[in-house]
Order: sequence, then structure tokens, then C-alpha cells
Amino acid sequence: MSHLDEAAFARTVAACTRCGGSELEVSTYVDRKLAVMLADPSDDGAWAYDGEAFIDGVYRIRCTACGVDAYASDDCPRCHRAGGLADGLGHVTRLEVPRRCPSCDELELTLIAFAPGTVTVRGPGRPAPPTARAELGEPGFHVVAIACDACDWAVVSERCPICDAAPPLRARA
Ligand SMILES: [Zn+2]
Ligand SMILES: [Zn+2]
Ligand SMILES: [Zn+2]
Repeated sequence: MSHLDEAAFARTVAACTRCGGSELEVSTYVDRKLAVMLADPSDDGAWAYDGEAFIDGVYRIRCTACGVDAYASDDCPRCHRAGGLADGLGHVTRLEVPRRCPSCDELELTLIAFAPGTVTVRGPGRPAPPTARAELGEPGFHVVAIACDACDWAVVSERCPICDAAPPLRARA
């Protein structure tokens, strides 16, 4: 199960327990969709998660007024391996993107990835979309799956895409 469920998340972002501030910066690892052409991005990418996945991926909630961590976990946000977060934020993707589809030679492929993002939350309600903190090729951005739009070729990471832990992975919320 997730470290943080919906009720715990709502409680934590309601107000800082140290200073009472109600503006908290949330860091989360969430799904991002990106099109590539010859292994380079051909669009800006878009978040592809629902509200439960947003909460499931949270690894830090920090008060913007006093700087205290209202919530922080060093565990991998995807598989919960202890200390796994650093192996995600500090490494580039382990699933390499081919320049062409290995099956049909198509130049354009679609990626599903995990990217870290941050967003400032003020009070209850659905958080706004986060700002991505890593792009394709940068440490922290991890490709989960690659699919060809022209044929049925696809590949999915079997290990944990974020921290490289061996399967099986826990079911996501
Ligand atoms: Zn505070
Ligand atoms: Zn193809
Ligand atoms: Zn992991």
C-alpha cells in the first residue's frame, strides 16, 4: 500500500503543524507521456496520471514558510524499496530509447515515463499539475514503456523504472 493515503495527504497539506502555514510544496513522481522522433522529444510531454497516482507518488511535502518537511520518505515512490528515491533522482533512465522502431523502422515512438514534479498546494482540493523537474535524458526522468505508433511493437520495464529494484512490483493505488 501507499505510504500516504488520501486522508493522510489531505491532513498533511491542510496546514503546517510547526508554523500553521497553509502553503506547502508537494514533490511527487508521476506518469508522463512523451512523443519522440529519432529518440529526441517531438512534443513538450504531458502528465498522464490520476489523483490517486499523484498521492501515491508523493515523496516530500515541505512548508514554504518555515521549510520544515511535513512529510518526507527516502523510499522509492514506485516499489517502496528503502532508500530507493536517491537511485531514481540521481540516475538517468535505464530503459534506452531506440532511434527507430526495431520492428518496422518508424521514426516516431511514444514513451510513458516517471518524472518528478513539484507543485505548491494551498488548502484542500485537487492539486494543480506539477512542474516537471527532469526531462528525457536528465537524471530523475525514467522511461517505463516505449511503443511504436505504426506497428504493435512495445517494450515495458520489468524492473522498477525508478530505482531498478527487481520485480515483482507492488500494485499501484
Ligand atoms: Zn511551516
Ligand atoms: Zn513499429
Ligand atoms: Zn523502486
